[in-house]
Amino acid sequence: MSSKLPAKAKKAAAKEITVKGTNIVPKWNYSKSIEDPSHIKLKPKYDLFINGKWEKTKKYFDTINPSNEEVISKVAYAEGKEVDKAVNAASKAYDNVWSKISAKERSKYIFRIARILQEKAREFSIIESMNGGKPVRESKAVDIPLSIAHFFYYAGWADKLKYAFPGQNPKPIGVVGQIIPWNFPLLMAAWKIAPALACGNTVVIKSAETTPLTLYKLAEVIEEAGVPEGVVNIISGDGATGAYLVNHPKVKKIAFTGSTEVGKIIMRSIAGTDKKLTLELGGKAANIIFEDAPIDAAIEGIINGIYFNQGHVCCAGSRLLVQESIKDIVVKKLKHRMRNLRVGDPLDKNTDIGAINSRMQLNKIKEMVDSGVAEGASMYQPECTLPARGFWFKPTFFTEVAQSNRIANEEIFGPVLSILTFRTPAEAVEKANNTFYGLSAGVWTDKGSKVFNVLSKIRAGVVWANTFNKFNPASPFGGYKESGFGREGGKQGLDAYVSL
Ligand code: NAP
Ligand code: MG
Repeated sequence: MSSKLPAKAKKAAAKEITVKGTNIVPKWNYSKSIEDPSHIKLKPKYDLFINGKWEKTKKYFDTINPSNEEVISKVAYAEGKEVDKAVNAASKAYDNVWSKISAKERSKYIFRIARILQEKAREFSIIESMNGGKPVRESKAVDIPLSIAHFFYYAGWADKLKYAFPGQNPKPIGVVGQIIPWNFPLLMAAWKIAPALACGNTVVIKSAETTPLTLYKLAEVIEEAGVPEGVVNIISGDGATGAYLVNHPKVKKIAFTGSTEVGKIIMRSIAGTDKKLTLELGGKAANIIFEDAPIDAAIEGIINGIYFNQGHVCCAGSRLLVQESIKDIVVKKLKHRMRNLRVGDPLDKNTDIGAINSRMQLNKIKEMVDSGVAEGASMYQPECTLPARGFWFKPTFFTEVAQSNRIANEEIFGPVLSILTFRTPAEAVEKANNTFYGLSAGVWTDKGSKVFNVLSKIRAGVVWANTFNKFNPASPFGGYKESGFGREGGKQGLDAYVSL
């Protein structure tokens, strides 16, 4: 703390106090770094967005702020009748408008969405953090700018499809049904809506139960952009709403991001139909640290790999494979770094780890962590005070993990890292591939040849070298094995939305 601070601030800084809804932080920093949500425009009640209008329903449910459990808004619950209405609106919009206008016109609308989102980026970041629990630093740096970038990127493709599919005749599919999870609501919506519209399809998208708000704010943007009514329909509800959408006969393609369990249900339920399907499912990524790696950079990569978005990340580096010769130093440095992580209010710009998205997810994480302890792994958590209200979990790692332990195999989807060791590159590859999943992987080493050698043998859709959790709209993202199939992002992201 600088000696130039006024006496009042010095006193506050010297005496650490617990501020409601945050971790222990000096009051002076707290008051300066908190985002003020009071000017954010949120309605007390959100209806469904169907055919360019706000549609009331019989049932509404509360959507809360997971960092304090306070209700933010009420949100409409779509039953079969409303899903049907949304699909019919999308179908009419496809037949009468969207399939008739030029690709250049489509592109213009997608650009407009991107531009308006850009103007409202701060508002979107704050709402994403309020509804999802993620640190506002992350929603500002990652969620919202990347969402915008996706709309810009696919706006650019709309009138260039013949170059994406040379010698072929790409045609739109019709109505697409899209179902997204709660960990990156706006970003997952952007990944899905942007390429679908660029290719000339119309959309019904269902938000995840716990995070509907930025989707309805996106509906307002779509209205403002003047997108023809019925081209994008946004609904909320729960798993049953999603199932109605999947099984609707007029839906020609399903794009799903979520758990492997629900992905399998969807695949079974559309078997025998002519619906197209892409699945982005779970993961249990290996983050491999070799003894020749730049250790301090690797420590940052480990932290980012597993604690970004509280570990609610499908491609999280949740299995750390560290070369045996450097295990002790890596664990020591990791502990040191973790003691400096701030757990607390998602709207505090200094927060590193926010709230767990829901009580249900918190219980899942606790259950998995208990299994780690029961199976004999050794747990570490830095000391930190968690707020009394809301859903919180300390950043955690396990050493002495056996490959057979549940924490080494199952997706935890929380801020929990399992550390395993290896001796040779071949053993690292074998352990990295010893999983049902195949979404992502990372490797840290000084040697380019080792990067290529190791990563070329790993069955994962996305691989990173000397970095982790980096995304770009131009790079395709997707999995192997039980992490799903199909790619989102890049030119490859167009494939799922055209028929040739
Ligand atoms: P989830 O339970 O599978 O839910 C995903 C979405 O599917 C939600 O909108 C959910 O609705 C809906 N849903 C639930 N049951 C359904 C059914 N029978 N038919 C149709 N839709 C149904 O997953 P989650 O807990 O929200 O998200 C976490 C999972 O997503 C993790 O496993 C994670 O790895 C995976 N994920 C993967 C990626 C990727 O790109 N590979 C990205 C992010 C997350 P409700 O929310 O209303 O229940
Ligand atoms: Mg669910």
